[in-house]
Amino acid sequence: MSNGKLHFEPDRELDGVLRVSAEPDLPRPRVVVIGGLHGNEPCGLQAIDRVLEALRDGALPWRAGTAVFVRGNLAASACGCRHTPEGVDLNRQFDYAFESSLPADRWVHEHRRAHELRPLLEDADALLDLHSATRPTPPFAIATRDDRSFELACRLGLPWVVRGWEGPGLVGEQVVLSVLTRLERPAVGVECGQHDEPAAADVAYRCTLRFLRATGVLADDPSEPQLDEPARPLLLRLTEVLKKPSPSFRFARPLRGLERLERGSVVGGDRAIEVRLRRDAYVLLPNDEVAVGHDVLYLAQPESDPDSAATGPR
Ligand SMILES: [Zn+2]
Repeated sequence: MSNGKLHFEPDRELDGVLRVSAEPDLPRPRVVVIGGLHGNEPCGLQAIDRVLEALRDGALPWRAGTAVFVRGNLAASACGCRHTPEGVDLNRQFDYAFESSLPADRWVHEHRRAHELRPLLEDADALLDLHSATRPTPPFAIATRDDRSFELACRLGLPWVVRGWEGPGLVGEQVVLSVLTRLERPAVGVECGQHDEPAAADVAYRCTLRFLRATGVLADDPSEPQLDEPARPLLLRLTEVLKKPSPSFRFARPLRGLERLERGSVVGGDRAIEVRLRRDAYVLLPNDEVAVGHDVLYLAQPESDPDSAATGPR
């Protein structure tokens, strides 16, 4: 219930980690906000800076608990790249498979970072993870299979919530959200817009405030009476991922995030194949400039209409 007497405690051992609370014993709930797991996605870091500035100014009414702000991959952010040049995608390491499959002397920067963040993440009562996309996209929330994750995602006030990321062949068990999902705690992600567009940082900031209010860390702000009214977002379920089949694969035309394509549409192709939709689908996070075998897009269906695979080579 305080302003002006908040404690701001940088972690002495973990770079880029700052805890904020009204009491020095870091009371619960402890909620974690992560930005910059991908170094070319500055919106989350900008949102964290803005929230910290507002907290220091006493502009946000505090309620309870501890907010933990994490700058995900400082080395990648410094070079503005998704991961460090010799490294790997940090947001695919949180199944911690590398801890048993790779000797520690062969770990790269992102393995060490995922490893050192593990106790902090496993201690969290809730998590918000902020991202942006290669191609333009309306902002959308990502919910896990945890029911409270879905409720939390709806409270961010975004027009879309997408579930189903834990499906076969999808990334849900490798991303940072999965650490909390395995512990049956709520975690949400937000794709805030396209990298570097100023609107993405605004979305990230708004979502961070709503997350901190929904988790009881910030008090409701009477000057924003609509803020905590649950939105009624459109619900999508991820059904499929398209992996880049060859170096020459390209989209037939530039795609936008959350674009709805009709059955029969040609998504893209290379010299040998053409990929068409077998049914209507929404396209998420399209990016054909990835390495062979990596995800070039995800397909989703309205939640009321879950069904089988939508693409296929023709
Ligand atoms: Zn990202």
